[in-house]
Amino acid sequence: MQTIAVVGAGLGGLVLARTLQQHGREVVVFERDASRGARKQGGLLDMHQESGQWALATAGLRDEFRKLIVPQGEDTRVMNKHGSLLWDEISDPAAMHRPEVERQALRDLLIDALKPDTIRWDSRLTGIEPGAIPQGGHLLRFADGTAFSADVVVGADGANSGVRPLLTDARPAYTGVSFVEIGIADAARRHPACAALVGSGSLFALDDNMGILAKHGGDGCIRIYAAFRVPLGGLSGRGLHLDGVSPSAARQAIAQQFAGWAPELIALIMASDDGHHVRPLDALPVGLRWPSRPGLTLLGDAAHLMSPFAGAGANMAMQDGVELALALVRESDADAAIAGYEREMFIRAEQAARQSAQGLDICIAENGAERTAQMFRGFPLAA
Ligand SMILES: Cc1cc2nc3c(=O)[nH]c(=O)nc-3n(C[C@H](O)[C@H](O)[C@H](O)COP(=O)(O)OP(=O)(O)OC[C@H]3O[C@@H](n4cnc5c(N)ncnc54)[C@H](O)[C@@H]3O)c2cc1C
Repeated sequence: MQTIAVVGAGLGGLVLARTLQQHGREVVVFERDASRGARKQGGLLDMHQESGQWALATAGLRDEFRKLIVPQGEDTRVMNKHGSLLWDEISDPAAMHRPEVERQALRDLLIDALKPDTIRWDSRLTGIEPGAIPQGGHLLRFADGTAFSADVVVGADGANSGVRPLLTDARPAYTGVSFVEIGIADAARRHPACAALVGSGSLFALDDNMGILAKHGGDGCIRIYAAFRVPLGGLSGRGLHLDGVSPSAARQAIAQQFAGWAPELIALIMASDDGHHVRPLDALPVGLRWPSRPGLTLLGDAAHLMSPFAGAGANMAMQDGVELALALVRESDADAAIAGYEREMFIRAEQAARQSAQGLDICIAENGAERTAQMFRGFPLAA
């Protein structure tokens, strides 16, 4: 039987391994983190019916997934910088279009669904020698000096994939937008006005090529992304110095960027807890493709990193994982399975990446709120 090596225990790699095991296949997952808890996997993800939910159901985990759904609304509010509500969508949670689940809980579910010892933690891939094994297999090398040979290697190793260079020269490039991530813990009790402003779901306050994107988390926290259209590393160029400053100075500095915005929006920033993360958003080229190569492929962010403006990355990674597993199970010829999987994945990924790039351009714009509300209303947008 073929040995399948998956590099990366993110959502995509894990659901791939789970589906392969359901069908009796041999699979090993190599993960650079030392354990499942080594890195905080924060935030709520909405699981789309046709991708994330489909993947979990096909992997036999529908009931377990449903137990994890956070009873959080899927409502969406769009405000302009003056705090005027331009779009207020109340969704019906019973419709299960996009139920929310905590990323950590979802990852734990997938880890626990694997046979014991499927994941080799603390295994950072450092190189692959394609075709190094006489029968055509690949040799994977790891930071701890160990090696592993596999017939099929799947790069599920995220944005900075070490497997990707074997298939394409494409590299992620900066999208022109950076997030500063902050949060308000126990928001309903400590900052009820902020919690009420965000409502039961997500709030997008947008204008001036900036935004305050706020979303309730499953743990009572509000996660906030202050978004800025800036050149790479350009936050300091607009006076936003966040390195080595005290938490209160960081809050002040972020809030100052929104001078002139409605006080209740700025209050979201001023209520935030200590600690922030700067996240420049990168993406791979929209429509990226590569010629299929024997026994090697990619899924998820490794294959089609996109900005989060379509909320599709994790959903796509999971759909990729299940589609690839099913192709490998269906086809006796692994290379034909990979080629077929890639053909369909390229089409899906291009569509989602295009939506995500458009979403970013619409939201983080001079008149972002108006354009975003128009998009939600389904009206055509002026260029
Ligand atoms: C701010 C933000 C918000 C987002 N919100 C959403 C959302 O609401 N909905 C949504 O669908 N998507 C969202 N996304 C996108 C989503 O997070 C990603 O698309 C998704 O996590 C990709 O999954 P993956 O399995 O491909 O990769 P990852 O989750 O990145 O997993 C890759 C794994 O590979 C491991 N790895 C990396 N290198 C090596 C190596 N050399 N050796 C061994 N292991 C390695 C990593 O440690 C990691 O565990 C968001 C992204 C961001 C940045």
